[in-house]
Amino acid sequence: MPTDVPASAALFERAQAVTPGGVNSPVRAFNAVGGTPRFITSARGAWLTDADGRDYVDLIGSWGPMLLGHAHPEVQEAVQAAVARGTSYGTPTVPEVELAEEIVARTSVERVRFVSSGTEATMSAIRLARGFTGRDVVVKFAGCYHGHVDALLASAGSGLMTFALPGTPGVPASSTELTLVLPYNDRAAVEQVFAEHGERIACLVTEASPGNMGVVPPEPGFNAFLSEICRRHGALFVSDEVMTGFRVTRQGQWGLDGAVEGWAPDLVTFGKVMGGGFPAAAFGGRAEVMHHLAPEGPVYQAGTLSGNPIATTAGLTTLRLATDDVYAHLDRVATTIREAACAALTGAGVAHVAQSTGTMFSVFLTEGPVRDFDDASRTDTAAYAAFFHSMLDQGVYLPPSAYEAWFVSAAHDERAVQAVLDALPDAARAAA
Ligand code: PLP
Repeated sequence: MPTDVPASAALFERAQAVTPGGVNSPVRAFNAVGGTPRFITSARGAWLTDADGRDYVDLIGSWGPMLLGHAHPEVQEAVQAAVARGTSYGTPTVPEVELAEEIVARTSVERVRFVSSGTEATMSAIRLARGFTGRDVVVKFAGCYHGHVDALLASAGSGLMTFALPGTPGVPASSTELTLVLPYNDRAAVEQVFAEHGERIACLVTEASPGNMGVVPPEPGFNAFLSEICRRHGALFVSDEVMTGFRVTRQGQWGLDGAVEGWAPDLVTFGKVMGGGFPAAAFGGRAEVMHHLAPEGPVYQAGTLSGNPIATTAGLTTLRLATDDVYAHLDRVATTIREAACAALTGAGVAHVAQSTGTMFSVFLTEGPVRDFDDASRTDTAAYAAFFHSMLDQGVYLPPSAYEAWFVSAAHDERAVQAVLDALPDAARAAA
């Protein structure tokens, strides 16, 4: 048992006795880096405090939602007022209308339906795409994560044109036999699959800019190309903005490509930031497609806590506070940390490449560029583990996996950023 964090170590033992691996989502565990996950007892601004009373600069941000930082006073006040009015009614409510209006105003979607997790959002978007097109086949990219939807927990079969294999035990082959998995950023592969299966493809789903294999931005024009090839073949283009939505820009990744180039995805999924730290997610899109959803149309979809007034209040307050100034700040902080990480790694002679999209970035410990999952897989995970633990010991909580984005917030002020900058040189030397 580590002596430096005895309270977390004791809690971890108790947790493992009652919960598989001691965690409620695998990525929170330290399996990839070794050691004891810290049990966080409170958080404020850019800082986490663990059960042993240690403070950390947070670069996980709850895996994306905490755009404004932790315990933002205005979000807390709005949530407390909402709780005082009751927590769930199972009827339409005011905040869900206001949040839907805010999302429609900021993004390409004309109609939006709320759910409680990103997984539900992509699962529902795919059902709707299949219902709308009357087709079954779904195309996705290796390294893109869309939640734990059976059909999308798929790994590539033996070739481009073959249907996918289950990505985990528990997913039957029948759940992935209508999924095709392609290498990301590979136009030729996409063209080949549409040439072969175009008439059967209901939708192509992609992370708007992948963040789940580390940040691997779409090459210029790639999303426009996907949108166009889907349109040509009567398939829907589903852009998963669960991670990038309201994070990389005010309008998400679409603000960096679609809004500029003049195209829009048919369906978009959202989560994380739009819930302000509460379980809220959504899918939306063109009105013509969304009309197919019950009760307007025949495609069934529902949820007891969907559009919950507490979660939608937290999300609405967060989005209203996420002004252009906030995104400019996130951009400055992300750039400062990214550049300092690169300088430290260069100084220590560690092969690396930093990649970003808008205000979201990650650092791969491999030669770049990283343009797909195969490239990302070359990252040196042992070096990352050493880097991670050095940062943690110095009070910076990075994602405990080499394949994740580093998330900053509006609350990352000079003190928090300086603490990260001070820790980087030693961490880089540890990784060498
Ligand atoms: N889509 C993307 C791009 C994600 O990053 C995630 C979660 O990390 C999901 C979907 C699933 O969201 P949730 O964990 O809320 O089910």
